[in-house]
Amino acid sequence: MPFVSVTGKVYLAGAGPGDPGLITLRAAECLAEADLVLYDGLVNPLLLRRTRGICERTARTRRDGTTIVSQQEINERLIAEARAGKVVVRLKGGDPYIFGRGSEEAAALQAAGIPFEVIPGVTAATGAGEYAGFSFTHREISSAVAFVTGHEDPTRDASRLDFEALARFPGTLVFYMGLNRLTEICRHLIAAGMPETTPAAVVCHASLATQQVVEGTLATIPHAASKRQLKPPSLIVVGECVKQRAQLSWYEQLPLFGVSIGVTRPDEQADDVSSQIVRLGGEPVIMPMIEVGPVAESEVPAIQETFERLHEFQWLVFTSVNGVSEFFRHLQASGRDARALHAAAIAAIGTSTALKLKSFGIQADFVPAEFRAEALGTALAERAQGQNVLWVRASRGRDVLPGLLQDAGVHLEQLVVYENRDVAAFSSDVVARLKSGTLQWVGLSSPSIARQFAQLLKMAKISPAELTTKIAAISSVTARAADDCGLTVECIARNSTWQGILDAIVSSRRLQSHHS
Ligand code: SAH
Repeated sequence: MPFVSVTGKVYLAGAGPGDPGLITLRAAECLAEADLVLYDGLVNPLLLRRTRGICERTARTRRDGTTIVSQQEINERLIAEARAGKVVVRLKGGDPYIFGRGSEEAAALQAAGIPFEVIPGVTAATGAGEYAGFSFTHREISSAVAFVTGHEDPTRDASRLDFEALARFPGTLVFYMGLNRLTEICRHLIAAGMPETTPAAVVCHASLATQQVVEGTLATIPHAASKRQLKPPSLIVVGECVKQRAQLSWYEQLPLFGVSIGVTRPDEQADDVSSQIVRLGGEPVIMPMIEVGPVAESEVPAIQETFERLHEFQWLVFTSVNGVSEFFRHLQASGRDARALHAAAIAAIGTSTALKLKSFGIQADFVPAEFRAEALGTALAERAQGQNVLWVRASRGRDVLPGLLQDAGVHLEQLVVYENRDVAAFSSDVVARLKSGTLQWVGLSSPSIARQFAQLLKMAKISPAELTTKIAAISSVTARAADDCGLTVECIARNSTWQGILDAIVSSRRLQSHHS
């Protein structure tokens, strides 16, 4: 038997400081390829949506019940999974080597003969500099920058950091992991000769919608920071550059900065909206009201039977990405492939549906410019008169096509290849946020989503009256449905899109701040 190497590979990759847009292209490529992703607690969970691999969090420190995994165990796990042939991404917050122990993992892989690559990331300090508005090395004020660990064993009396040297350092100091020791760090720096008036800042949750920046001096910052009850992860920045914030700050001025918005779209359609929210400075909270799943086993024979007659259809119509993938899954399960579609013209709604078709080797013949069933219906009514059309669809959805086509003398047959069903409950995270008032907005994008939202509130025992989350509706029809369920709608999109929902939230907030 020829020798075949089945060893996988490990990518030690930086995830960036928080904003999911700050991951590198290379790390994103590796995530797309990964079988397994082992990530640490600083990684933004939105990044895990870029992989189809299994994602597992490793935490060396205990935080709400997570078990302690030793560095040794992580190293062994990486080696074992790669030996089993897997493509493993070890995803670490910021940069994998900067205070990240990535180099220990690399050394262990090297020693075990496992192929690996290391992908740098935007480290928290540079993320914080740019998003808070400090240039650590502005040529007029600083000729160096030092990244320093502020974390030391609290049981040790003598400080291991050379504060004398730090106090003499000709530039900006950035302390990682130092929030709990902020008071001591400032005291030591002053004792070592740094002026009390040296500007200092704490940046917490840099590059995230929850970013907070507290400014002061070495003398005032400990008190100022404790008043704001800042939470880790935070950085301490010491140096003149802190004063530049007045001119360089931009992130906190974004129209949705600091605003959390619930996205009720089906999970697989949430990414576009979610990244728009991030780009506007907000925090998307993905909370689908509808989930998709395969059809029941008992429905499969009917699908197979339709496949036998595929050649009778002059048109196949796909209206969702999921419809395409489930159609081909069933087609392949029946021993067929794309050649079974040779006789039909193909229509698709939406560019992502068309792209999905392309991944199966099919170029759609017709994609309406407007992503709505009405546009497709009108076009087909003209082109498919007297012909047989097969509509590949979900168990539920808008039913405008049949009406439009029937009148035009088109023979429409429907093939349900996947199920749309209501989700049974909010996730525990969403319940907690709704109850504590830490979800500021939710966008409702259809009447049925509005009703389902009301239903899930009821199940979570949250009455509409006590709900502090504001509601934005996609249209007046959706607003009415919400209203009928006892929900108060704060604003309505002008143009029935998710972009419209976000615009409406922005205007509503502007109005509010004018009034207050
Ligand atoms: N490898 C990481 C650092 C890991 S050490 C990197 O390159 O960024 C963990 C420390 O990083 C935290 O204690 C905190 O000081 C800092 N940190 C990470 N993400 C941060 C963020 N978004 N905002 C502020 N500090 C952050």
